[in-house]
Amino acid sequence: MALDLKRLRGDTPATADLAYFYNSGASLMPNPVLDAVKAHLDLEARIGGYEAAEKAAGPLQNTYDALAGMLNCGSDEIAVVENATVAWCQAFYGLAQDMKPGDRVLTVVAEYASNYIAFLQTAKRRGIVIDVIPNTPDGEADVEALERMIDDKVKLIAVTHVPTSGGLVNPAAEIGKVARRHGIPYLLDACQSVGQMPLDVETIGCDFLSATGRKFLRGPRGTGFLYARNTMLTRCEPPVLDLLSATWTAPDDYTVRGDARRYENWENYVAGKIGLGVAVDYACAIGLDAIWQRIQDLAGPLRQRLDALPDVHVHDAGRTRCAIVTFSHDRLSPKEVQQRLAAQNMAVGTSRPSSTLLDFEARHLPPLVRAAPHYYNSEDEIDRLVDAIAAL
Ligand SMILES: *Cc1c(COP(=O)(O)O)cnc(C)c1O
Repeated sequence: MALDLKRLRGDTPATADLAYFYNSGASLMPNPVLDAVKAHLDLEARIGGYEAAEKAAGPLQNTYDALAGMLNCGSDEIAVVENATVAWCQAFYGLAQDMKPGDRVLTVVAEYASNYIAFLQTAKRRGIVIDVIPNTPDGEADVEALERMIDDKVKLIAVTHVPTSGGLVNPAAEIGKVARRHGIPYLLDACQSVGQMPLDVETIGCDFLSATGRKFLRGPRGTGFLYARNTMLTRCEPPVLDLLSATWTAPDDYTVRGDARRYENWENYVAGKIGLGVAVDYACAIGLDAIWQRIQDLAGPLRQRLDALPDVHVHDAGRTRCAIVTFSHDRLSPKEVQQRLAAQNMAVGTSRPSSTLLDFEARHLPPLVRAAPHYYNSEDEIDRLVDAIAAL
């Protein structure tokens, strides 16, 4: 089904004069999301934050229901937090509490810096071993190698689905089959994949999934969420608790909430949380299948055309490639490319090696430019971007 590009761009007024390709950093919010956030801030200013939250009980519940609908899980398996890192850390450090020296965590070459830093800290504190699943020649995590790495010391499989710095899509569902077969907890960092492609936690087979609001979902900044499978809730306590995630029941006792909101804490960005739900509704109304198709229709040709330019080298790996198109330029640094394009009303991002260090080192990559189109970009904008880069 073709998207109504005119309407979608109308919902995103900045597209009138800005060709925006920085959706992997922070996408542009569509008007319904922005309006919902603003309306709630106005209500808070008029009647007070607590009263406003009470009046917004419906829209707040909608955020859980919308996320659950999108991911195919229960609303009670969703926690809404301030960003993807907090969501991921709640799951990881929760599981890490029970790890012993010699226990193994299996991860991927494209793992995100913040996650890997948490592994390193836990290795230092608890003596866990970090083992990296090698890549296939195509550059994605090798599922057969993963299978051979499994033993009874493996306490977690933690995988970045789509890295911050490239078009790779790791085979999340194939990894999930291995995790399920061996009964090993599986934590998926879906920060860059959510909002780009359909994600179904039953198909993927993950026990935890973390993501942010502001990237391809087009939600407000300062929002993120965690999916936690029901069976995990009784297995591990969150690493931090407060009076929302737990109740102080007696001077010397407390009980932890039964649902996934045990990973939240009390104070939160209510307007943003409402906006996040609207962003999910907006994406689902378009349809994640249609979004994913449109992204591939735009990013595929962009990647090919950039790679054909004399001074440009595209560096995306994997069999399935997503919106994130990364490249280096023979004569210009990523910052220079970004600035020269910004002067022509085009927004792209950059990636430093330290964001995904193992991958940059393994492939000897230089710092990269990231151009990540979304479904609302037009073919004209792709042409403009390619022409501008060719003329640098
Ligand atoms: C952006 C990103 C994160 C962190 O998300 P925050 O919302 O900034 O915490 C985690 N993982 C990946 C792969 C990312 O691209």
